[in-house]
Amino acid sequence: MRGKLVVGNWKMNGGRAANATLLGELVAGWQTMAGRQIAVCVPYPYLAQASAALASSRIAWGAQDVSEHAPGAYTGEVSAGMIAEFGCRYAIVGHSERRQYFGETDAVVAAKARAALAAGLTPIACVGETLAEREARATVAVVMRQLDAILATVGTDAAKLVVAYEPVWAIGTGRTASPEEAQAVHATLRARLANAGAADVLLLYGGSVKADNAKALFAMADIDGGLIGGASLKSTEFLAIART
Ligand code: PEP
Repeated sequence: MRGKLVVGNWKMNGGRAANATLLGELVAGWQTMAGRQIAVCVPYPYLAQASAALASSRIAWGAQDVSEHAPGAYTGEVSAGMIAEFGCRYAIVGHSERRQYFGETDAVVAAKARAALAAGLTPIACVGETLAEREARATVAVVMRQLDAILATVGTDAAKLVVAYEPVWAIGTGRTASPEEAQAVHATLRARLANAGAADVLLLYGGSVKADNAKALFAMADIDGGLIGGASLKSTEFLAIART
């Protein structure tokens, strides 16, 4: 049986003092629940702080991106091996903000997933359609194109992925896909993953998840938890979602 996973994406937020408070509150507040994992994905400079604060806890940590390149002359990049050295379990790849603001293509996202896997990290591979694509009834075509690029690149490692469906129009907007809308996309993703021999991949939903809407979303058959942005910056809200 698949468990549930709730991952916080801090985005470009934080500072040493605020992080210490937030991480301390998470450690103090998180009681282990069977079949339930939680994690936080923090900005690169805070990986060491997260590693130190969470090392003896049941909370995992990760990065929000990773270079597709092996170490070398790539100024400003951070390799998967470097991230792994901080004890990270996860690396988000293909977040819509990376695709939208930094021009990451499906091929780049797939290469990042492959690089993360090669370093022993679990990529949290994000897929999702824009509002215009949804209105053009292209949701399934878009998320399948994004997923297929990753599956074609990672091959038999597909079962080691986590996949997050994050409709772009729901991220940071306060607008959430209804549980039924999200479930329909998740079921389609699940079918494609099953064809790739990866039926049990954890499928997270992301997009304005809050404590008051998480329950209905996480109750759906193919929604195995959430990728949480804004609400992951408040320990009470994040822990409430994680306990849902
Ligand atoms: C995200 O950044 O992945 C996200 C889902 O953000 P939010 O929860 O703020 O919509």
